Amino acid sequence: MEKELFMIFGDPVSHSKSPLMHNFAFRELGFNGCYSRYHLKDGSKLKEKILSLKIKGCNITVPHKREAFLACDYLDSFAKSVGVVNTIVQKNGKLYGYNTDATGFLKVVEGFEAKNILFLGAGGTAQSTAKILKQNGFNVTVSNRSKKRLESFIEDGFETYIYDELEVREFDLIVNMTSAGLSDDSLPAPKELLEELFKRAKGAIDVIYKETPFLKLAKEFNLPTKDGVDMLIFQGAIAFEYFTNHQFSFDEVEPLMRKALALEL
Ligand code: NDP
Repeated sequence: MEKELFMIFGDPVSHSKSPLMHNFAFRELGFNGCYSRYHLKDGSKLKEKILSLKIKGCNITVPHKREAFLACDYLDSFAKSVGVVNTIVQKNGKLYGYNTDATGFLKVVEGFEAKNILFLGAGGTAQSTAKILKQNGFNVTVSNRSKKRLESFIEDGFETYIYDELEVREFDLIVNMTSAGLSDDSLPAPKELLEELFKRAKGAIDVIYKETPFLKLAKEFNLPTKDGVDMLIFQGAIAFEYFTNHQFSFDEVEPLMRKALALEL
């Protein structure tokens, strides 16, 4: 069988760990595939690139996830409802789109005993993940430092607050959905507010791939925590299932991707 080609498209894309994770899993599972990266500046060229390079499957990262949605011929029901795609499979010249960021994040949340969840941050990642949690029976409240980005959440029926208006009550899980702590040591919300929330919470999640000031503070309250590495691995393992037409299960692929990341660190 001819080697199948997979790709991640983004701008920038050089930081992506996806080639490492997927290539390691291909090798360990004996799958004849190769996963590379493509620095794509113009997202409207995505379909053309996939077809001309004969790419079997790809992931799409910032800023092209909306363009990826528009490029697809078929969408699964969740991707259709959220309007954003991060995984595409090509079959006979047709593109099939999925959102495995959201399904990956759902799996992370399912690892906690949580029903009432507070999001800090209201960007693109918060949008798709809030929707999938809601569809799966979780109560999601969304809080942000400024008002503008809360508008679409209000339209989708979420309870929303800017930080100044958020009344502290019991939330099982507090999630940092912002980029605060990614390249600085800032907290996503005022420290006093976080301390009051952590006193009552059962856990904390950060979507950033490392221990942020937010997670450090949660640990001071003895909360179980997860950083963004699990979300990264889970979205990758679910994408891998689509790429290989479900020849391999999530449970086989997930530990391999985790190992690939651990070996690199
Ligand atoms: P967006 O740019 O769409 O949204 C950013 C959000 O963060 C906004 O709500 C913004 O608030 C808020 N924000 C930014 N800086 C601060 C700050 N210093 N203090 C308080 N709030 C702040 O980002 P995305 O949704 O695309 O990404 C969010 C995070 O998710 C990133 O860190 C990204 O790396 C991570 N991510 C992780 C993934 C994984 O697999 N683990 C996958 C995808 C994303 P405002 O509206 O007021 O500007």
